[in-house]
Amino acid sequence: MQDKSKTYETGSELEDGVRIGKDPRKMSQEDLKSIGHMQKPILSVIREKCLDCCCGQTQEVRRCMSVTCPLWPYRMGTNPVRDKVEMAPERRLEAAERLMAMRGNRLKKLEK
Ligand code: SF4
Repeated sequence: MQDKSKTYETGSELEDGVRIGKDPRKMSQEDLKSIGHMQKPILSVIREKCLDCCCGQTQEVRRCMSVTCPLWPYRMGTNPVRDKVEMAPERRLEAAERLMAMRGNRLKKLEK
């Protein structure tokens, strides 16, 4: 990662003489990575934010009372709001096989 002043410069721009945060939708992947924003699951990002909010204390995230915070339901790194999908046993087996194949392919890529 870059030094702090370079990171700040990469992630900001001037607007009417005032420094503001850049629109991340208009930034390159390279620039985003250079300031520490790697591609990762959004639930992991939410969890990281909650840990940041609670000074890294997992028990404080667990006990968070800010129930109106938009991140609150997701603070444990899962999505309890989504509808639970009941799968037939044979569909569950197919999904597990697909997942294992995907993970196997990913491992093969890492080994190269
Ligand atoms: S849910 Fe709680 S811990 Fe997470 S960001 Fe909101 S206030 Fe902070």
